[in-house]
Amino acid sequence: MKCSKCGQDAVLFQRYSGLHLCEDHFTTDFETKVKKTIRKEGWIKSGDRIAVALSGGKDSTALLYFLKKTFGIRRDVEISAITIDEGISGYRDTQICKDIAESAGVEFRTASIKEHFGITLDGIVAKKGDRLSCSYCGVLRRQILNKTARESGATKIAYGFNLDDEAQSVLMNVLRGDAESLLRKQRPAPGMLPRIKPFKMIPEREVALYARIHTGGYEERGCPYSHNALRADVRGILNQYNYSHPATKYALLNLNEDLKSGIPADNTTAKPCEICGEPVFGRCRVCGIVKELKG
Ligand code: SF4
Ligand code: ZN
Repeated sequence: MKCSKCGQDAVLFQRYSGLHLCEDHFTTDFETKVKKTIRKEGWIKSGDRIAVALSGGKDSTALLYFLKKTFGIRRDVEISAITIDEGISGYRDTQICKDIAESAGVEFRTASIKEHFGITLDGIVAKKGDRLSCSYCGVLRRQILNKTARESGATKIAYGFNLDDEAQSVLMNVLRGDAESLLRKQRPAPGMLPRIKPFKMIPEREVALYARIHTGGYEERGCPYSHNALRADVRGILNQYNYSHPATKYALLNLNEDLKSGIPADNTTAKPCEICGEPVFGRCRVCGIVKELKG
């Protein structure tokens, strides 16, 4: 297939736009969209020091590359990387992260669950079993990341979450009936750095392609404890459904944002319809239909 814009060999077909894109046009399309998200959300401002949560996987590696490429030339914005070592043998290798940060040319910091809490994640699993491994891991890691970033002088933490991650989380909250998580907003709190997710509108496969084209040396092994059954199911359902309805993941994301921003209360009151006299909110749809059928 050839690129719809220039006729070179295409590397991607975007079902939702109908476009075939070559490497150059894909990169431009990708970066334009991410910049637009950052601008719209007001995420990166003059004076910001952005710490990228670098796991060493494709998403955070691609994010570090993108941020350094886009903001590295600005003197008023600084990019750095932080890796949290969970203490999972055979999985987390902070040396890989250090190498990625070095090749991006940014400052690198690391901290571990062991040094902060006196136990590794392997140790926690040995004690408690692996059913709740991700809950313990997520909670402990988030705190260390926030603390390390804050102490380094960072103003924000950037996560590599992509559209698929975000849409899965929304659907998981729906399926769990978890209204609180659906409605909860990120609220500013002293000592808690704001979190930004520049790739939240980019499908996972495009982030993977961007990482493959522009970066290397990232970690492709999965965590041995990552068997979150609900997320795996939701991922399967969503990908299958999205195949015939390509806007679904965006729709879920937008739904969640609308819920979080709070839909303004509807203050209209019911009044009798001027034609049929029945109570209606606004225009009478029954009379509309009757008129349509007659006409
Ligand atoms: Fe931690 Fe779970 Fe991620 Fe493994 S999959 S690193 S246990 S959150
Ligand atoms: Zn092209």
